[in-house]
Amino acid sequence: MGRRMGRSVLVTGGNRGIGLAIARAFSAQGDKVAVTHRGTAAPEGLFGVRCDVTDSAAVDAAFTEVENAHGPVEVLVANAGITDDTLLMRMDEEQFTRVLDANLTGAWRVTKRATRNMLKARFGRIVYISSVVGLLGSPGQVNYAASKAGLVGMARSIARELGSRAITANVVAPGFVATDMTESLTEDRKKQILASVPAGRYATPEEVAAAVTFLASDSAAYITGAIIPVDGGLGMGH
Ligand code: NDP
Repeated sequence: MGRRMGRSVLVTGGNRGIGLAIARAFSAQGDKVAVTHRGTAAPEGLFGVRCDVTDSAAVDAAFTEVENAHGPVEVLVANAGITDDTLLMRMDEEQFTRVLDANLTGAWRVTKRATRNMLKARFGRIVYISSVVGLLGSPGQVNYAASKAGLVGMARSIARELGSRAITANVVAPGFVATDMTESLTEDRKKQILASVPAGRYATPEEVAAAVTFLASDSAAYITGAIIPVDGGLGMGH
């Protein structure tokens, strides 16, 4: 099977951090890459569409824009995500549902919209950016860990529903990656984290991107419903 050239790729939250590294990696291999942003515009060289994944109408409009520019989305990377950390006893319902809405329901919204055309094309690659904490749990992140664990059930159900149409759905579970999201952690927490990572360092966003481009490649056609950790060994056994 020859490599599909110049595929239409959409990366949510591809305007910065891990999503941007993923978008750049696809772009470097010759794919047509679109990224969502929430008003900051797309970085140089990438096609940007404005989209908040908590808004179904915005998701639909963004896909239509991408389809007009690059054709139907063949590779979807659901990367957009937020944290809102606090201990369970202090967490209010709005903090819980807001994180679930962005990280889990947001991934569902973009998947549902993307699979419409993937089913017609009888081809698709879906990659969810989860987290090691979705499998390990993390104090102060009940909302975030629940949303990231939810992506595993989502990917595996989609793998079962759509597997016969050459659509794969996989999960990448990064450990700690140097981005704005981890920059906000306290120095004490950062030291604690590094002490528990066998690799003894954070991942670079490019190391996460490499797993994503592999899962989207022709070589990974028989990998579906899998969780690929990119965590320096932090979550071994989970
Ligand atoms: P950043 O905080 O650097 O970037 C988050 C991205 O998500 C931004 O592009 C942001 O857009 C976008 N986003 C957030 N909410 C929405 C929304 N409602 N609609 C559309 N876009 C949204 O995070 P990272 O790059 O570090 O994280 C990327 C993904 O990787 C997340 O899902 C995160 O949970 C996961 N992850 C990160 C780890 C880490 O250590 N950094 C570890 C494990 C997983 P905007 O610029 O508009 O805010």
